[in-house]
Amino acid sequence: MTHQRTPNEREKLNEPRDKFQALMERVMRDNPFYRAKYEPLGFSARRPPTFDELPHLPFTLKSELIDDQQRHPPFGRNLTFPLSRYTRVHQTSGTTGRPLRWLDTAESWQWWLDCWQEIYRAAEVSPDDRIFVAFSFGPFIGFWTAFEAGQRLGALVMPGGGLSSKQRLETLLENDATVLVCTPTYALRLAEVAKENGIDLASSAIRVTIHAGEPGASVPNVKSRIEAAWGARCVDHAGATEVGAWGYSCGERNHMHINEDEFIAEVIDPETHAPVEPDADGVQRGELVLTNLGRVGSPVIRYRTGDLVELTRQPCPCGRPTAVLRGGVLGRIDHMFIIRGINVFPSALENLIRAFPEIEEFEVGVEHHRAMAELVIRIEVNGERPADVAAALQQHVHERLNLRPVVRVVDRGSLPRYELKARRFKFSEEGR
Ligand SMILES: [Zn+2]
Repeated sequence: MTHQRTPNEREKLNEPRDKFQALMERVMRDNPFYRAKYEPLGFSARRPPTFDELPHLPFTLKSELIDDQQRHPPFGRNLTFPLSRYTRVHQTSGTTGRPLRWLDTAESWQWWLDCWQEIYRAAEVSPDDRIFVAFSFGPFIGFWTAFEAGQRLGALVMPGGGLSSKQRLETLLENDATVLVCTPTYALRLAEVAKENGIDLASSAIRVTIHAGEPGASVPNVKSRIEAAWGARCVDHAGATEVGAWGYSCGERNHMHINEDEFIAEVIDPETHAPVEPDADGVQRGELVLTNLGRVGSPVIRYRTGDLVELTRQPCPCGRPTAVLRGGVLGRIDHMFIIRGINVFPSALENLIRAFPEIEEFEVGVEHHRAMAELVIRIEVNGERPADVAAALQQHVHERLNLRPVVRVVDRGSLPRYELKARRFKFSEEGR
């Protein structure tokens, strides 16, 4: 699939600079959070930071936003307009600490939906499609935007909240849904439930699945498993409550594009915070920092996402000129764990585990034996010889990571299943 750049898109190339300027003028006049941050540096409503000064501005941290909200309850000070202008409140899932509430004006919400149009475009979803959103429509922003953006696109959208997994399957089949939107974990869970109930998903009308909430859909072995189970093309999408829908995969080698019309991307060294220069291959490896340009009501400027990425500006074969993240989001920097001196990223480990189709579910933890840390992988196996699968997985991980894990086979159905954000890596919850 090659994306032809339209004349209109070429004109857009200067826009981020103009949008940033307009945003800063507004923010320095009316946003108490950013005024408090930038005024001590000599900036003001009359002298807002310029586009070229962006790399010198201090970062915005999630912890800073949470503290601000604690000090100025209930919504904090990152508000550019009077409260009466805001029409929606959502909150983060709070998997890594206290939830963060986030307000949007009607205009900021509209901007979210516009960003989602890019994702639907990359997934080749049209008004003829029927989109099933397998998501509990609660306070988490998640797929609310996918739902409304699908409606705006002219597709037929179906909310899948308040239903069991089996009911969701029945609903999407009976309504001939062509597009499934959910987390990658949940796409696999639905496939598992379909199998238990003798439903052949590959013969369903679903032709595209769109995923977010976890890096899974860019993990090659997760992606191929979803595609096989659903007989559909799997499209990854990246976004965050506080940032917006900033990225989507184009179908070329797990490439994830950044929507650079609406977001400014930088890559920094997570330790030193210095900008990372491209290496000999033109790749910047480090933490992704994003500035959103159209969410004026509650913007993030130089926001440290905590996502580890490999960004390149080499042309993507699909023809889109925007920056590409190779392999999507590679992992959360604060989820990386070091065991026996070896850095392990959960998504890399998940890719190794998912190479075994017999493994239906897994959980990873660390145990200590005589002061030695031990990587422990618990697996549910669907097959005849679970012990052989365990031994093969142990060897596979050992070969790839140079670390020999303990692999334990547990009863089928004994590990938790997830709809939203999976917590299969137990150690990553510790100490945070
Ligand atoms: Zn591409």
